[in-house]
Amino acid sequence: MKEKLVVLGVGAHSDDLDFGAAGTFAKFAKEGADCYYLVCTDGSKGSRDPKMTPKRLAAIREKEQRTSAKLLGVKNVFFLKHKDGELVADMKLKKEIVRYIRKLKPDIVVAQDPTYIFSDRFVNHTDHRAAGMSTIDAVFPAARNPMTFPELSKEGLGVHRVKEIYLVNRTNPNYAVDISKFVDLKVEVLSQHQSQGIGKNPGFVKEMAKEMGKKWKYNYAETFFRINFAI
Ligand SMILES: [Zn+2]
Repeated sequence: MKEKLVVLGVGAHSDDLDFGAAGTFAKFAKEGADCYYLVCTDGSKGSRDPKMTPKRLAAIREKEQRTSAKLLGVKNVFFLKHKDGELVADMKLKKEIVRYIRKLKPDIVVAQDPTYIFSDRFVNHTDHRAAGMSTIDAVFPAARNPMTFPELSKEGLGVHRVKEIYLVNRTNPNYAVDISKFVDLKVEVLSQHQSQGIGKNPGFVKEMAKEMGKKWKYNYAETFFRINFAI
């Protein structure tokens, strides 16, 4: 039996995991879990500043993500550096995610919900959907199937069964994490992403967490669609 819980977050861009699950990661880390982030793109297109270059932006966003992760107690952040806006849920991306799943052996994987495509006032970014779908497929069946990516097994990266997936979900969640003790930290963490300007509106972050907590009678929450393979 492993002693420590291992939690891996997979997000499309720097800031996605913090936005959806910073409080949850802070809580896991505080409880002694080994937490990791895997960021699929370089975030090089997330700016409206005409003076910004993709290369400079990618470096800034990587730094912002490393700083925020440190604040949460996330042990390490890995970057796949796909081009921002061009992420595709193909076998290449799935294999890259499987590599990290087999290497880090997470009990829980946190990802974006690929079934959320649009609402009446919002389109979910194509990279978010690609990252979420690839992560689900990487967890099941790819990471646990010895016949999938046998070349990884030859590298010593044998199969691994993830126990749970938490998909960041605000529209039809089946699970909530009480982040009341961590909501101020979440605000601080999001303010690290200065290139994205999220931290400029801490009221919004808290309001959203409050809204998500209502159904579960938590002061502040983050909500998910949770898949538990153990059941
Ligand atoms: Zn994003």
